[in-house]
Amino acid sequence: MTEKIDFAARKEFIKLLEGHDVTKCFQCGTCTACCVVARFAGNYNPRMIILKALRGSTDVFDDERLWLCGSCHKCSERCPEKVDPAEVLRKIREEALRRGTIPQAICSKVELILKTGFSLEGSGSDILRKRVGLQPLSVIDTGEISKIARLAGLNLPLREEKK
Ligand code: SF4
Ligand code: SF4
Repeated sequence: MTEKIDFAARKEFIKLLEGHDVTKCFQCGTCTACCVVARFAGNYNPRMIILKALRGSTDVFDDERLWLCGSCHKCSERCPEKVDPAEVLRKIREEALRRGTIPQAICSKVELILKTGFSLEGSGSDILRKRVGLQPLSVIDTGEISKIARLAGLNLPLREEKK
């Protein structure tokens, strides 16, 4: 079955991805072939995400797989057409954020960083650290982190900033 191209949406994508000529993508698949995430997450495929943009498929913004990209830029170094897929994906994620389609798992992670300054739950880690003779982890002042998150437009409950 041939998938229809939404030319108006495609035009919007090209505008959104200004500075990265996705129209040069000839779907060689090099980005997916060299992607470490794609190697382990079988359903992750940067080439397909770019194809969706080229077809003007706005459902790309709802695709949680967008957020699997580790921004390692390996694909950008190898893309023969200098499309810079890593940056294209970042711009698509930014637009997803503006549209409020950030996945719950990412929201929880950001909330944890805002609350603790750490990206992983550290429950029990101080006990373990003490057991092996290490100092407890330092308490992070999250005021600056909240400020950055607000400037980045994260639509999440933020901690009260310290006066
Ligand atoms: S490597 Fe570049 S040209 Fe090839 S599919 Fe990926 S983005 Fe397109
Ligand atoms: S930047 Fe993202 S899409 Fe590109 S190789 Fe790294 S993880 Fe894969």
